[in-house]
Amino acid sequence: MPDADDLLTGLDPEQREVALALRGPVSVVAGAGTGKTRAITHRMAYGVATGVYKPTEVLAVTFTTKAANEMRVRLRELGAAGVQARTFHSAALRQARFFWPHVYGGEFPEVTQSKFPLVAEAMRRLGKRADTPLLRDLSSEIEWAKVSNITPTAYAAAAGPARREVADLSAGDVANVLASYEEVKRERGRIDMEDILLVTAAILADDERIAARVRQQYRWFVVDEFQDVNPLQSTLLDLWLGGRDDICVVGDPRQTIYSFAGASPQILASFARKHEGAQRIELVRNYRSTPQIVAAANAVFARTAAADGVRLLSQQEPGDPVTYVGFPDELAEANAVANEIALLHRRGMPYREMAILYRINAQSEAFEEALGEHGIPYSMRGATGFFNRAEVRQAVTLLRGSARGGETEGHLVDDVRAIFSAMGHTDDPPTAAGAVRDRWESLHAIVTMASDLAEAAPTAGMTALVADLDRRIEQAHAPAVDGVTLATLHSAKGLEWDAVFCVGMHEGMMPSVHADTPVLVEEERRLFYVGVTRARHDLMISWAASRKPGGRGSRQPTRFLDTLLPAGHQARQVSAQARQRKVAKCRVCNEILAVADRKLGRCSTCPATYDEELYETLRAWRKEQATEQGKPAYVIFTDATLQSIAEAKPADAAALERVPGIGPAKIEQYAASVLALVEEAR
Ligand code: ATP
Ligand code: MG
Repeated sequence: MPDADDLLTGLDPEQREVALALRGPVSVVAGAGTGKTRAITHRMAYGVATGVYKPTEVLAVTFTTKAANEMRVRLRELGAAGVQARTFHSAALRQARFFWPHVYGGEFPEVTQSKFPLVAEAMRRLGKRADTPLLRDLSSEIEWAKVSNITPTAYAAAAGPARREVADLSAGDVANVLASYEEVKRERGRIDMEDILLVTAAILADDERIAARVRQQYRWFVVDEFQDVNPLQSTLLDLWLGGRDDICVVGDPRQTIYSFAGASPQILASFARKHEGAQRIELVRNYRSTPQIVAAANAVFARTAAADGVRLLSQQEPGDPVTYVGFPDELAEANAVANEIALLHRRGMPYREMAILYRINAQSEAFEEALGEHGIPYSMRGATGFFNRAEVRQAVTLLRGSARGGETEGHLVDDVRAIFSAMGHTDDPPTAAGAVRDRWESLHAIVTMASDLAEAAPTAGMTALVADLDRRIEQAHAPAVDGVTLATLHSAKGLEWDAVFCVGMHEGMMPSVHADTPVLVEEERRLFYVGVTRARHDLMISWAASRKPGGRGSRQPTRFLDTLLPAGHQARQVSAQARQRKVAKCRVCNEILAVADRKLGRCSTCPATYDEELYETLRAWRKEQATEQGKPAYVIFTDATLQSIAEAKPADAAALERVPGIGPAKIEQYAASVLALVEEAR
């Protein structure tokens, strides 16, 4: 077991404060990338090492199984193997299983793996049909109602104010589904995931003896990602505590992005009211991102009334500026991002250290295609690739069948619409968000491909469309383990990459059109913030003024960039300006530069104008530095910066600082050695 004091040495002063606050209520309000997990795992290990905690009496609750596993590994490494690290579900399930026979007698009921069959039966009993996306939306709604402590009878009254909408069902319809679902479940002797928490809470609330046993077992509680705790989990936590207050919660109110699933951004704030005299510790030092990225993250909240959350302070060296860029259309955007990724890769950044983040899954297609075209491997997080989605496969199969059945020229879009209407597709989007809307977006994307094709080639028929789809399928198909991550902002939570591209960030997408109240807009703001704070080193935020080439160009960049884009400019002008910046010319041949070559200042195909020997010397020096500091090489200087140095051959620090990508911190750290190498090469 490590020495107790050793456990404190790797922590900064605030993290150390967390580790030392072993007793009583503690709330850690910490920003993104401030080392929350590090602080709480060290705290538990320190408590164990000093003998204050008996390891088996500590329960650490996390948001996902993945996070629980990671925490268990970290605790073992820190000599606190006996500590329980679990999700709310797994902790509750253990207790419910154990006490069920004592309370209710008999075997613990079977836990349903999926709600779909039960929801389908509930719908059937109500004389309604439901396809998979609707089953998914109804299941989410049932989960929301249950974790929010809303019964089927109370649902209709609660749904309106909470702005709940499920496809085109009325609140009364949904309430009936909720009631019928519970009935079907009971008849079949099953329980669901939420019941596990409900049952555990009921047992603890009703049986004093059992509650006492559980409370004797666990004396010390730690909750990670507390901002996403829902009312049901909060109730359970209170029952575990039973009036005691040895609890430490960690969270970032600016990262609450699961309100639609029942979490509340107020829950962290109300902790202090509930636990009087709670010690509050803020972690503001961000270890993940460059000051440029951290400044952008802070600016996202600059003009909001929300005082919650912390302003971050970067602990990293200055890096490149954040890029904000508007493209004329989505094709140009996807190509530019793919180009930029190819460039970063050539400069030594592994693909797995890069991510493209978007608001909804339907946005992935253009990027899958552009990456495929560039031969860049990628993998999708938490979703299947566009052409592997059930509705898209079904749609393509139907179109293929229609193409085989013969051609009718000139009606391509109408033909596609007719085929899709048999799949239940409508011209107008469903009003509610959710799986039904996702499915609509997927099919709509194919209708759009058809109309693009029809516009480009007015005589194109179904065969041509199928050929075009096949080309896209072929091109998009490059999934790989060591690939660029494609993910929605939601599924990027808690993760980090060297380079992050937040794409499709225009009004209507970010915030989503569904966010039509200030409260919903704030949730979207937090989601945007989660995206921005995923990046360690490079961040590009982009949008397209039109969906397709030659479009009207009326889309505006997201309002969350208002404080970040140059002041006094209308968004439109900014996007025009961004486009202008994009038409920078090559300094060798004076041709318009590809986006990927912007940093280079010349076409990558044009001859280098720098001293190549000096460049190689600088690279060798950089490699030594990287090895010595245990950092990736491009964090020290990018290839482009080294090329610029080899080109400019600066004679002194002032000249060196004029090289793009070099700021005061780099000057202080590296000027002497770099200038010496330049001098030698003269
Ligand atoms: P998020 O809010 O995005 O989930 P987080 O607060 O959980 O972020 P971590 O992912 O735990 O942050 O930490 C971010 C990075 O900072 C990790 O790579 C971690 O190792 C590093 N880090 C944390 N604390 C320190 C420290 N005191 N010294 C050096 N590195 C640190
Ligand atoms: Mg985290």
